Amino acid sequence: MKKSCSFVIICPVFKYEIFYHPLWLPNEPRTRSASWRNDAGQINLMRYYIITYGCQMNKNDSERIAAILEQRGHKPASNAQGADLIVLNSCSIRQSAVDRIYGKINRFGNKKIIVAGCLLEYDKKRLAVHKNISFWHPNDYFNLSPIPQSRFSAFVPIMTGCNNFCSYCVVPYTRGREKSRPAKEIIAEVKSLIKKGYKEIILLGQNVNSYSYNRKHITHNNNLLPERTPKTSRAKSKAIDFPKLLKLINNLPGDFRLILLTSHPKDMSDELIETIARCQKITPQIHLPVQSGDNQILRKMNRHYTTAHYKKLIKKIRAAFKKYRPSGAKSPLEGRAKAAPGAALARKTNFPPVTISTDIIVGFPGETKKQFQNTVKLCREIKFDKAYIAKYSPRPGTAAAKLKDDVSPKEKKRRWLILDKLINAKYY
Ligand code: SF4
Repeated sequence: MKKSCSFVIICPVFKYEIFYHPLWLPNEPRTRSASWRNDAGQINLMRYYIITYGCQMNKNDSERIAAILEQRGHKPASNAQGADLIVLNSCSIRQSAVDRIYGKINRFGNKKIIVAGCLLEYDKKRLAVHKNISFWHPNDYFNLSPIPQSRFSAFVPIMTGCNNFCSYCVVPYTRGREKSRPAKEIIAEVKSLIKKGYKEIILLGQNVNSYSYNRKHITHNNNLLPERTPKTSRAKSKAIDFPKLLKLINNLPGDFRLILLTSHPKDMSDELIETIARCQKITPQIHLPVQSGDNQILRKMNRHYTTAHYKKLIKKIRAAFKKYRPSGAKSPLEGRAKAAPGAALARKTNFPPVTISTDIIVGFPGETKKQFQNTVKLCREIKFDKAYIAKYSPRPGTAAAKLKDDVSPKEKKRRWLILDKLINAKYY
């Protein structure tokens, strides 16, 4: 924490982050919120309440924001009504999430509000008219120690940002380019969580399998630079990529399991598949977003793979798990589950060596009924164990937002229901 504090204070370059960083908020004379201090000039200690939207990255950011606020002496409130300070950790992935932020802000009247997370400049400008709002840019949050919300499971971010520019997605605009966190720092955090008794470590990133860390990415003030692919073979051998990082974490002593979120099919190399299958602490669950089962739509989405490539990957993943973890061989904690209620039923069930889940978008601009049927066909072929299905909504500033959103809401809903029934009905 101290490292982050001193960085924020001394760095003259990142004035933007200094200005908006929550460490400054309680004694922030330069902003509109002069009432962070009382008449005697002391910092007003406040009750805070965090509302988180969106993905696990945001949940993890919220845990780190809570740590900062508590370090400054603020205390959590049990609900928004009882809080003086509201943190809205926003998500811009879908318009509905952004609309909820606007709704909440209007409801909270004059309470102090910090808006964090993924927010487009367009929305920032619109929100900036509210005098009680400050923004927090998520840069540099790797250095902060979180307050985990669970005593069993903890998030460990390994990278942030994205270079892929999928045409529907705002992440490269809101979180910036990929930045990988130093391997040493990740391992230290995992070790400390294991020591505290955490049993489930979730390695997080917008695209974890493009993780690549090389010492040159770190500047004198411990800030991270965007990733650069090592050019020479010597530099390559020095860089720590995702398979190397996984092996290092898997080899740590302790009774824990690892979950990886989220991967991009184009970065799923053979070496990575083999490593994941061999590292016994990684849960045999792979989440690999396919988004569409139609090549033309995938091209329009700027996904950089074809359905044939995706199917090949799934085949390789299943083969690797079958080889290294035949049925019955589970992650370390699953052995214990045999003693749990319902275990007899579980033993009778024939578990596959690996389960596969995915993300799918229905109703992307121009998606015809035939193209949607290609997605249905792919889902039937692959037999996903679970799918997170989203109805497309245009996000301002993305490439897809320039395309005509021509699939009606009714038709999007119909397509959503078909896939949900096909893949997720077993969970009803
Ligand atoms: S890979 Fe695509 S969908 Fe995922 S965060 Fe990056 S741009 Fe967004």
